[in-house]
Amino acid sequence: APAEHSPAVVIGTGYGAAVAARRLGEAGIPTLMLEMGRQWTELETGDSNPFCDMLRPDKRAMWLAERTEMPLASFLWFDINRKIDRYTGVLDRVHHGDMSVYVGRGVGGGSLVNGAMAVAPKREYFAEILPSVDAGEMYRKYFPLAETELGVNHIDPDWFETSRAYRYARVSRAHAHKAGLATTFVPSVYDFDYMRREENGEVPRSALAGEVIYGNNHGKRSLDQTYLAAALGTGNVTISTLHEVRAIERAADGGYLLTVRLLDESGETIGTRQLSTRYLFLGAGSLGSTELLLRARETGALAELPEAIGKGWGPNGNVMLGRANHVWDTTGALQSGMPALGIDAWDDPRHPVFAEIAPAPAGVELWLSVYLAITKNPERAEFSYDRSTDSARLNWRADQGEPSIASAKAMFDKLNRANKTIYRSDLFGDTRRFENRFTYHPLGGAVLGEATDLYGRVHGYPRLYVTDGALLPGSTGVNPFVTITALAERNMARVLAEDFD
Ligand code: FAD
Repeated sequence: APAEHSPAVVIGTGYGAAVAARRLGEAGIPTLMLEMGRQWTELETGDSNPFCDMLRPDKRAMWLAERTEMPLASFLWFDINRKIDRYTGVLDRVHHGDMSVYVGRGVGGGSLVNGAMAVAPKREYFAEILPSVDAGEMYRKYFPLAETELGVNHIDPDWFETSRAYRYARVSRAHAHKAGLATTFVPSVYDFDYMRREENGEVPRSALAGEVIYGNNHGKRSLDQTYLAAALGTGNVTISTLHEVRAIERAADGGYLLTVRLLDESGETIGTRQLSTRYLFLGAGSLGSTELLLRARETGALAELPEAIGKGWGPNGNVMLGRANHVWDTTGALQSGMPALGIDAWDDPRHPVFAEIAPAPAGVELWLSVYLAITKNPERAEFSYDRSTDSARLNWRADQGEPSIASAKAMFDKLNRANKTIYRSDLFGDTRRFENRFTYHPLGGAVLGEATDLYGRVHGYPRLYVTDGALLPGSTGVNPFVTITALAERNMARVLAEDFD
């Protein structure tokens, strides 16, 4: 059978993909989005809550896994992960030797599982990581545009001071200030008015019911409610779910041919589909887009793809850690799953750190403070193509994470000294105090200006684009989705103006 044709195809439905599809749809271009995960928000099961919470995970929690894999793996060294049934669940932990990468699966990508922190990087740092992008234009135009379209909102500082659900953040703030460190509120795409009504008992709880990494049933403005809703609203965009793109090749007419694996909800392959398109946008995320390009180059399908494909990857310097609090410093049994405060030492000349004050929503007092530190780590890794498994392998080594730990340790040693507190060593399966064998923030693999031109056009192949976190060179210094969204907006404006007739 001949391949079905769509004028434009977007692979993935995360931030970069959603921006691309929306702007293509608005320009009147019929666009097909292909997403390997499922649709979450319109369930026909009669269950009005598609997602499970963190304390009672079920098969919906994780992508094709037999056990949950929580970032905090243990408590008092007891394994807190649970056995679950294999299912196309919402959170995936992709293992690559010394590094594993958390990603969202389903319509909305990472927006379904993330902590909603919507932070634009410091302008000087943005200019440092992407010197060839006009920072003036980004901060005047595309960051504000992304923030508006994503529905970014700010916590009411008066409510923050009284909310029971942010006691944990206030305790950490006091500790940080005692050590002479500055804190800052973090903007969010979780609706803070909704959260206030949750605390008042007026609406069903989500952030206040331990919902985050396995999805939020309420309150969060995930992409299905923002960019993807707008894309579908143009009437030109359709989304096919449980469609995993496996291969890209060149068609005789200069377009692209895709081989797509069709999955059922237990992850079994139930068929394949061939699709053709003239314009192809890769928004499968740092891991997904990089793998597709690397496979295409190494199998010879797109043999002229540049050397830079697979290079420049970094985990955004992620380090997680916990501190043990004094008995009088209770952090509260009720904790909002959405962080609202960060410790900002990014300007520290030796150890730049931006640390989010993370919740530990267990429903009981834990006397525990948790942090996800974003550090400035110059180490980068490469992907290589493994022919035997037909997959991309990330070659990050544990020792490359040492500069991140050194920076996090510098900040939190200071904090512990000032408060006479200690680290927890029971949280990560063994006795380590700093966990950096995983990242929430995979970045790079098809870096802007190296694998692509300055607007995401892949070198050597016309009408082939990268639009997601693969473009960023391994680091943004803050949580990355606002940067990914803003950069995609900037690139799409140029591409639509120049590449379509
Ligand atoms: P993604 O959002 O990863 O989307 C890629 C999509 O492509 C996915 O839906 C995937 O299923 C699909 N896909 C992949 N391969 C294929 C294929 N071959 N065929 C079809 N579909 C495919 N960032 C912040 O800014 N703030 C936060 O608070 C925050 N918290 C986080 C918490 C967690 C637990 C996690 C996992 C991430 C968090 N992040 C946060 C990071 C943020 O979510 C990511 O940076 C962002 O989602 C990346 O966007 P993207 O467009 O690159 O791709």
